[in-house]
Amino acid sequence: MIISIGPEEISQAVASLRNGQLIGLPTETVYGLAADATHDEAVASIFEVKGRPQFNPLIIHGHSVESLAEYAELDERARLLAEKFWPGPLTLVLPRKPDSNLSLLVSAGLDTVAVRIPQHPVALKLLQAYGKPLAAPSANLSGQVSPTRAQHVDDAFGDQLGCVLDGGSCTVGLESTIVDLTTEKAVLLRPGGVPNEELEVLLGKIHNYKGTEIRSPGMLKSHYAPGLPVRLNAQNAGPGEALLGFGDVKNATLNLSVSGDLVEAAANLFTMLRQLDHPQHSGIAITPIPHHGLGLAINDRIYRAAC
Ligand code: AMP
Ligand code: MG
Repeated sequence: MIISIGPEEISQAVASLRNGQLIGLPTETVYGLAADATHDEAVASIFEVKGRPQFNPLIIHGHSVESLAEYAELDERARLLAEKFWPGPLTLVLPRKPDSNLSLLVSAGLDTVAVRIPQHPVALKLLQAYGKPLAAPSANLSGQVSPTRAQHVDDAFGDQLGCVLDGGSCTVGLESTIVDLTTEKAVLLRPGGVPNEELEVLLGKIHNYKGTEIRSPGMLKSHYAPGLPVRLNAQNAGPGEALLGFGDVKNATLNLSVSGDLVEAAANLFTMLRQLDHPQHSGIAITPIPHHGLGLAINDRIYRAAC
């Protein structure tokens, strides 16, 4: 359902987010599929609804530098860029604060996090009203074109969303520029709404990312992988192994979802891998997980962990 914006509609969107639902959110870049970034299951359902075959990290949207500073470490460069370009189409990849209550799935288990303040008045109003940060990738099915009008979002997802806030046509219509500030050299991960030259005025030379990650974000080399060996399609734990189960599994050390719910399993995946990645075990054995829906992304991730 598309709704135009007044205080009641903002309250409706806030209520949807509190219930763990997704909403269609206008930003100046493209429409986003927004979820509470601290709510593991809501974040998992972003991947499910988009049909993403991989868990690539999502951008966290906040309404102020202070609110984002609860989750990310902003150094001097980040604060300089924030002052000049936020709110606006610039995303900064920063070290993630270890004690934050952000979902682990939101940054795909990495110890970095991508953050930005959007400029669209509706996005800012909602972020202020909600108070918590929102994860919001583009509101299109995986592999399809990004949406720049509320109708595009409703056409793609309709009833699967709490609501779609109508903020008109996106003024930038391009994704945000992404700059990685987690190393001494700033690196451009994705060109977008803020031209590189404007960033270089403040930062000096920005290096282009040389790799395959931009075309295929899920291939990020620094994905979280457990330190222990991981064994897939296990039926039982071997000697010393922890058993990570899915569905009706006897003797699982932890179970991703006893009822066999893939959204619940995705929401638990990184947290449980971290819990089991402990020297008291010799390895982590994982029982089979179906290869459909979110199971594709879960299998993709555990397969990488096992390699
Ligand atoms: P989108 O899904 O279109 O919003 O794009 C999000 C982009 O941000 C993807 O290209 C991600 O790989 C990138 N991204 C998000 N978080 C991180 C991170 N922690 N490190 C590197 N890239 C990130
Ligand atoms: Mg996208």
